[in-house]
Amino acid sequence: MLIDAAERAARYLDEAADRPVTPGLGAITALDGFDIDLPEGSSTAAETLAVLDALGSPATVRSNGPRYFGFVTGGSLPATGAASVLASAWDQNGALPVMSPTASQLDRVAARWIVEILGLPSSAVASFCGGASVANLTCLVAARDAVLARAGWDVPAHGLIGAPPVTVIAGAELHASMSKAIAIAGLGRDATTLVPTDDQGRMRIEEVPPVEGPTIILMQSGNVNTGASDSFARVEEWREAGAWVHVDGAFGLWAAAAPGRAAQVEGVADADSWATDAHKWLNVPYDAGVAIVADGNDLARSMRTDAAYLVTDPVGSVTQRLPMQLGLQMSQAARGVLVWAALYSLGRSGVADLVERCCSLAERFAVELVAAGAEVPHEVGLNQVLVSFGDDETTDTMIGAIAADGTIWAGGTTWQGRRCLRLSVSGWETTEADVDAAVDAILRIWDRL
Ligand SMILES: *Cc1c(COP(=O)(O)O)cnc(C)c1O
Repeated sequence: MLIDAAERAARYLDEAADRPVTPGLGAITALDGFDIDLPEGSSTAAETLAVLDALGSPATVRSNGPRYFGFVTGGSLPATGAASVLASAWDQNGALPVMSPTASQLDRVAARWIVEILGLPSSAVASFCGGASVANLTCLVAARDAVLARAGWDVPAHGLIGAPPVTVIAGAELHASMSKAIAIAGLGRDATTLVPTDDQGRMRIEEVPPVEGPTIILMQSGNVNTGASDSFARVEEWREAGAWVHVDGAFGLWAAAAPGRAAQVEGVADADSWATDAHKWLNVPYDAGVAIVADGNDLARSMRTDAAYLVTDPVGSVTQRLPMQLGLQMSQAARGVLVWAALYSLGRSGVADLVERCCSLAERFAVELVAAGAEVPHEVGLNQVLVSFGDDETTDTMIGAIAADGTIWAGGTTWQGRRCLRLSVSGWETTEADVDAAVDAILRIWDRL
C-alpha cells in the first residue's frame, strides 16, 4: 500500500511539473465528487487512495513548485518530502521523550541547529510549533508573563485582571499574525503603541517612546511586503531599560544564514525571543514553525502543563526538553524530524546557498521588470518584490490576468497606499530560467492589455 502511495506521489510531482501552477476549472469542478454522503460501509485503503489521487491531485495548486511566487511559500526539499513519508509511517507523538526516543533526539538536535544557523545565542531554547503565527503567540505570552513577573505579578496564577498595565510597542507594519497574537494574549490591538515606519516598511526606531514599566517591543525581520528588516541598533538599550524585545522573523530571520545577507539582521541576536518558520524558506513541508526564547525558563513558566502523569518541574522542562512543556500543544507531530532532514541534507552551505539564490532571483525579477517599464517601489534586498504596472486599476487587472494565465501564481497587496503584484521567491527549485519565464509571461500579459 505504501509503495502504491509513493508511486502515486512521484507520478504527481512528475506530471505537475508540466501543468499550469493553478488547476483548471474541470479539475476544480470534479472535486464535487468528494461531496457525497458519509459512506455507510468501508472501502479498502487502495480504493480510498485511488479516489484521493483521482479527484484530489489534479485540483492542487503547485505551490511547492518552481513557479509559485505567492505569499511566502517554500516548497519541500527532496529530503524533507521523503522523510515525511517515513515519519508518517513512524507516526510518533513528539510531546514527551518517553513517547519516542527518536523524535526526542531529533527535536533536540534540530532545535540546536536552528539556533546555531540563525546566529542566536547558544543558550536560547527553540520549540517547534505549527507556524510563525503560533510562534509569535507563544513568544508573546512568554514575554507578557516575564515582564509582569518582574513587576511582581504572576499571570499564570492570577490572570490579567488587576495586573499592572503592559505597554506593547510595535512597528506600524507589524504582521497580521502578530496583531492577532496581541488580541489573543489579552493585550489589546487598540492598546498597542504603533511606531511609524519608513519607506521600506521598517520601524523608525528613533521614534520608539522611552521604556517605562512592563514593556514589550515587537520588532520584525522580513516585512511581509518588502522583506526589509527593522534595525536592531537599540535593542540592548531597551532591554537594559527592562523591556522584552521580540522579533517576528518568519522568513527574514533566515538572512542570518547567508553571509551576503546577514548584515540586514545585524544585532537581532540581542533580542529576548524570535519567531520563525521552517515551512517557508527552509522548505520543510507543512507545518513547522519555531518559537525561540533566549531564556528557556520564560517559556517553561508560561507553557507549564500540570497533571499527575506528567513531569511538571519547570527546570526539567528545559533541561530535559519536554516539548509539551515548552509550547501550546500536548500531542504534536514530531516536527524536529523534518527540520532535521532539511538541515542535514542542506548543511550550513546549502542553507546559505538557498537563501542567497532566492535573493538574487528576486533581484533578477526586479531588474528585468524595471527594464521593461514596471515600477518596483522599494529596495530589493531579500526575497520579496513588489511591482506596480502604473495606476492601481492597471495593476489589479494585471494581478488577475497573471493568475488566470497560469504560468506562475503571485498575489496582490496594498503597500503604503499602492496596489502591487507581490512576488516572493522562497522555493528551493526556482531557477533563473523560471524567473525569466515568469517575466516573459508577465510582459506578454501586459502587452496584451
Ligand atoms: C508568514 C508570516 C507569519 C505567519 O506565519 P505562518 O507560518 O503562516 O503562521 C508571521 N510573520 C511574518 C512576517 C510572516 O511572513
